[in-house]
Amino acid sequence: MIHADILIVGAGASGLMAAKELSARGKKVIILEARNRAGGRIDTLPQKHFSQPVEAGAEFIHGNLSLTLQLLKENNIPYTKATGSTLRKKDGQWQDTDDEIEGWDEMMQQMDALNEDITLSDFLNTFFNGEKYTKLRQSAIQFAQGFDVADENKAGVIALRNEWQHEEEVQYRIGGGYMQLIDALTMICLRQHCEIHFWEVVNKVVWNKNKVIATTANNEQFSAEKIIITVPISMLQTEGAIAFVPAISEKINAVKEIGFGAVIKVLIQFEEAFWQDVHQDALFFFCEEKIPTWWTQYPAKNNLLTGWLGGPKAFAMQDYSPEQILDIALQSLASMFSKKLPPVTAWHVANWQKQPYTFGAYSYNTTQSAQAKAILKEPVENTIYFAGEAIYTGDAQGTVEAALISGRETAERLLKDIE
Ligand SMILES: Cc1cc2nc3c(=O)[nH]c(=O)nc-3n(C[C@H](O)[C@H](O)[C@H](O)COP(=O)(O)OP(=O)(O)OC[C@H]3O[C@@H](n4cnc5c(N)ncnc54)[C@H](O)[C@@H]3O)c2cc1C
Repeated sequence: MIHADILIVGAGASGLMAAKELSARGKKVIILEARNRAGGRIDTLPQKHFSQPVEAGAEFIHGNLSLTLQLLKENNIPYTKATGSTLRKKDGQWQDTDDEIEGWDEMMQQMDALNEDITLSDFLNTFFNGEKYTKLRQSAIQFAQGFDVADENKAGVIALRNEWQHEEEVQYRIGGGYMQLIDALTMICLRQHCEIHFWEVVNKVVWNKNKVIATTANNEQFSAEKIIITVPISMLQTEGAIAFVPAISEKINAVKEIGFGAVIKVLIQFEEAFWQDVHQDALFFFCEEKIPTWWTQYPAKNNLLTGWLGGPKAFAMQDYSPEQILDIALQSLASMFSKKLPPVTAWHVANWQKQPYTFGAYSYNTTQSAQAKAILKEPVENTIYFAGEAIYTGDAQGTVEAALISGRETAERLLKDIE
């Protein structure tokens, strides 16, 4: 059996951040990672097929997110502003989306006035019923499903409001790939004598106060005084994926109160950037096709388009083959641009619902999530701790920033409990 002071399950942004903080304070940390790589939902594909690094998972930095930007600067990783026009196909014409959706401000004010959280569906049915608001209701639901990957019948309005209020903020991208951040964190952890064991799927944690033994699918055992679990909450929501002995029912019940949405991301490289006929500096295209959201790499000039389908609609297509999804994506593009498309030179479908060790994309808040997160932030007898994007409480829900902050906060809490 291999021994450490602290075991961390998962080498995503959260696990690596926690490991960095703990090993900087001289703790012996072992990270157990199910995949053969670090990064989890950060997954920059190698340049093999595409003419530049492409992101199958996280891609944008949604605003001036302090910890992410600080880490990028400290590690000399360049990032650039994602500027460019946003266009929407409406009544067969491309239009600038700066047009306000009628009633949106009124809806935001009504959200602000809420004293108690309710689901988005209940909110819209209560305050924005009737024909006058049909378009507004559709837009709000599209937004919640598409970007928050949320089910409107479960998503809480207060968290959506907090996020939508920041929607105008600047966005950045890491030209050389998000994976550079993971590589930098990995290097720091290794320099600080952390061990990272890949291909180790933790399926059992036997514990009592200040003693844990984690068993992996390879039948290897690792022991420590404390353990931090950073796996996606979908893994903890899956019965028996990780068995805790004795059971930690309060935590597992809490995990079930957090929403976890699906995403299908389609990356297609064409022989030419045909969309430039519509707009030279286009960044986002929105339409009503089956794959409704597309973006370019502008201001970088290349021939890559990325399609995005989030929430219940992505969930409904989870069993389609990559070829079927590509076909639907190409049909969406041909119809949206009303033209025969140039040849495809590379493609990749990232169907996150089907990714083992993730089973979905990222979390969203239900009306019960605040309470559930408060429960999960408290360790079990100062021995089992939880971290990861879904445990984070703040306005950068479902992001890399959320994962990094949660990893750092959990490490700080654990150090406080020891010292
Ligand atoms: C398609 C997509 C697009 C996204 N776009 C953005 C974006 O543009 N900007 C943004 O900021 N965020 C984005 N996100 C969200 C962001 O990627 C995540 O919030 C963040 O990476 C989560 O980090 P984490 O460490 O909490 O979890 P993860 O990255 O999931 O790390 C958890 C790790 O645990 C491992 N694991 C799971 N089960 C076990 C087990 N039993 N034993 C051992 N290891 C295990 C996993 O393999 C994984 O490496 C996106 C996510 C997806 C899926």
